[in-house]
Amino acid sequence: MSMKKTSEHWKLAPAPEDRSQATIASHYDLFIDGKFQKSAKGKRFKSINPADEKVLSEITESTDADVDKAVKAARKAYEGEWGKLSGKERGKYLYRIARIIQEKARELAIIESLDGGKPIRESRDIDVPLAAAHFFYYAGWADKLDYAFPGRKPRPLGVAGQVIPWNFPLLMAAWKIAPALACGNTVVIKPAENTSLTALKLAEIIQEAELPPGVVNIITGHGKVGAAIIGHKDIDKIAFTGSTGVGKLIQRSIAGTHKKATLELGGKAANIIFEDATLDEAVEGIVNGIYFNQGHVCCAGSRLYVEESVHDEVIRRLKHRMGTLIVGDPMDKNTDIGAINSSEQLETIQKYIGIGKKEGASFYQPACSLPKKGFWCPPTLFTDVAQSNRIAQEEIFGPVLAVQSFRTVDEVIKKANNTPYGLSAGVWTDKGSKIFNLTSQLHAGVIWANTFNKFDPTSPFGGFKESGFGREGGMHGLAAYLDF
Ligand code: NAP
Ligand code: MG
Repeated sequence: MSMKKTSEHWKLAPAPEDRSQATIASHYDLFIDGKFQKSAKGKRFKSINPADEKVLSEITESTDADVDKAVKAARKAYEGEWGKLSGKERGKYLYRIARIIQEKARELAIIESLDGGKPIRESRDIDVPLAAAHFFYYAGWADKLDYAFPGRKPRPLGVAGQVIPWNFPLLMAAWKIAPALACGNTVVIKPAENTSLTALKLAEIIQEAELPPGVVNIITGHGKVGAAIIGHKDIDKIAFTGSTGVGKLIQRSIAGTHKKATLELGGKAANIIFEDATLDEAVEGIVNGIYFNQGHVCCAGSRLYVEESVHDEVIRRLKHRMGTLIVGDPMDKNTDIGAINSSEQLETIQKYIGIGKKEGASFYQPACSLPKKGFWCPPTLFTDVAQSNRIAQEEIFGPVLAVQSFRTVDEVIKKANNTPYGLSAGVWTDKGSKIFNLTSQLHAGVIWANTFNKFDPTSPFGGFKESGFGREGGMHGLAAYLDF
């Protein structure tokens, strides 16, 4: 059966989510000291829907004075009401936020998909439930910090400055805010400029939860607002998720200061398939590894290593499966691959596809018709890739997979570790012994066995080498917001 025929065979009627279930204001001010406040300068920029390029709302560009105001509000809350609350009382607020996220789950999912382009199925089933789960999980720890670290005296750090990327906007905000608050810190956070809307909805939820003013301040704007938060002298802790390039700038800028930092940066994960793996499951794992969220995933399985004896068969099945993936309207519940987050990111992805072709790798995309407006990239596959190729070395952050084969375990371990990154990896095999051998030798923060891209608030997440340092999630995620 040809690729085209397969997708035609499975043609499904459209199942669009009802966008009238979400309210998006025509513009948003800054959330400082418990209220939405106008910026001193009042400049705004547009947030668009990457699936149709239409403007969704206008967002405020913060000035240095706004950043200062937000940090002052956070300091006042830390030294005032919030700092004096017991862990049990802090936990109640976190539970309340978690429950309101659950109540508003449908609206949050719709806004996440409209603003960022990810399929509604993913926003609905992954981003939003996991965001609530993070608040629930850390709510549970708020009054148990002494038990988490027996014999030590955990104390909050103070005011946390947090900057997050556009690929999991609400989820990243939850990863940052929940542990900070559970430990008694206060927060100034900046979402990414092109996906601020769910963070601003979270500000409304925080208001509804009656969190004391100033405990969480959500301010918007471009990269320089992030730099102003990180550079502010009254910030005690920095939590950054984003590119390795900006991570390096941040590390340089805080050298010699009292600021503590965790940096969650880029990745180029190896997904390794052995001949004894259940191949159909492995193919699902490959698809989930690289095409989930259009490949805008720091831990995406973007380098595929297949044992030579099953290489051709795996690629045959993978191409067949790629032909069944539905690319298009993120608001359609059948969609597998939504819109690329921005025109800039689409340009980057196209640049790398060009580089892959020039480097001599074999290029493959299934036939699929793309909407006329918006930013789109079909699932893409490169075989015959060399270890030295840029598409095998550099983070593309899009739905582009670079495939290589291997013959021995030692060879694949060397190849998998031959990268500046070390965030995640995946191993597919029937043999537990092989799994343990690889997981102890691969240099990656998270290693999945016979699954991929599984996230859970109880499990720490973070990288080695140029993927950053520090851990988020689990008890490790608490330690990053405490002094002892
Ligand atoms: P980015 O360009 O580094 O931006 C991340 C955030 O930093 C955004 O809010 C950005 O604002 C802000 N920013 C930009 N320049 C800054 C500066 N000089 N100082 C302080 N803040 C600054 O990364 P991105 O393109 O949004 O996100 C993709 C990257 O994030 C990928 O490399 C991915 O691997 C990584 N990531 C890592 C993890 C992890 O847990 N390890 C998770 C998700 C993503 P603007 O949006 O306005 O530019
Ligand atoms: Mg947008």
